[in-house]
Amino acid sequence: MSTFKAFLARQTDGKFSAGIEQVDRSEMTPGEVLIRVACSSLNYKDGLAVTGKPGVIRKFPMVPGVDLAGTVEESSSPAFKPGDQVAVTGCGTSETFWGGYAEYARIDAEYIVPVPHGLTLVQAMGIGTAGFTAMESVIALEEHGLVPGGKPVLVTGAVGGVGSVAVAILSKLGYQVAASTGRPQFSDYLKSLGATEIIERASLTGNPKRPLESPRWPAAIDSVGGETLSNVLTAIDLHGSVASCGVAGGAPFATTVYPFILRGVNLLGIDSLRMPNARRRAIWSRLVRDLPLNLLDSMIVKAPLEKVAALGEQILAGKIRGRVVIDVNA
Ligand code: NDP
Repeated sequence: MSTFKAFLARQTDGKFSAGIEQVDRSEMTPGEVLIRVACSSLNYKDGLAVTGKPGVIRKFPMVPGVDLAGTVEESSSPAFKPGDQVAVTGCGTSETFWGGYAEYARIDAEYIVPVPHGLTLVQAMGIGTAGFTAMESVIALEEHGLVPGGKPVLVTGAVGGVGSVAVAILSKLGYQVAASTGRPQFSDYLKSLGATEIIERASLTGNPKRPLESPRWPAAIDSVGGETLSNVLTAIDLHGSVASCGVAGGAPFATTVYPFILRGVNLLGIDSLRMPNARRRAIWSRLVRDLPLNLLDSMIVKAPLEKVAALGEQILAGKIRGRVVIDVNA
């Protein structure tokens, strides 16, 4: 291939534009492994990138798409060889080097994992950064003492990508799951993933009325942030934990120190981008073990590359259910 199809974001005289183009191979950002991309996915961060919102793309022109799965065509790293099926989740893709919204990508080996045995490329992208982050959040809670058998674990933004995968994993692991959503019309969907209780999003918004409420949850996975996180912290059990992984509802949040000094609550930061390759592989292994594939399949909707700009608007508006896999060859 000397040219290939890509969704390219450009900035000219400060003005953002994006669309599908034929680009020359010589324009690609460098990387040890050349991957023939089969599919990518849609994450909240992709919504920001494809619609020209600040905070993601740091270098133009850029191929957005933080995730990609495909087949190795060339490799200067001994870690991969032509024919290997591989997956990449957020690692700087769509920020400083080109990501998955293209027929080809060049990525350094340290960011690549083999697609685990038993997963298709589509399923790997059904997981993508959102699912990877959900698994990472569950592991962080386990590392801080969470075990099944008690009160329900709270998942906020439950109908979204991180939320849907978190609900399914926690349920498979034997937890009761309280799923918070602003879209009660998806209650049956959340129950099909394993939610045992639906919490109305509005009950977790607004400024907390008191620094501490009656403890309700031993732990929470919060993909919303903002006022939701403020409210969640007031109602976590003694020595419980909150995995803070998202910002869909806002970045600033207010709290007092009381959840921390009177209940010993742990606020755990989750970053899915920066980690050694061995940890990436370990998280993928847990996903294969703990995420039921029938539930993963039920979260996935497929869409062609030409739809990413419109889908980007939708995910920012909180209108996407579960996970969207982008077929870059459609
Ligand atoms: P989605 O849009 O799929 O999910 C976000 C969900 O949050 C929505 O489905 C909705 O859930 C809820 N939500 C949306 N807007 C609001 C609002 N204004 N107030 C309250 N709730 C809202 O996005 P993703 O799952 O891909 O990502 C979720 C968050 O996690 C994002 O902020 C993303 O940036 C972050 N993230 C962080 C990572 C990390 O490394 N820390 C990696 C991956 C994602 P419902 O309709 O059920 O209420």
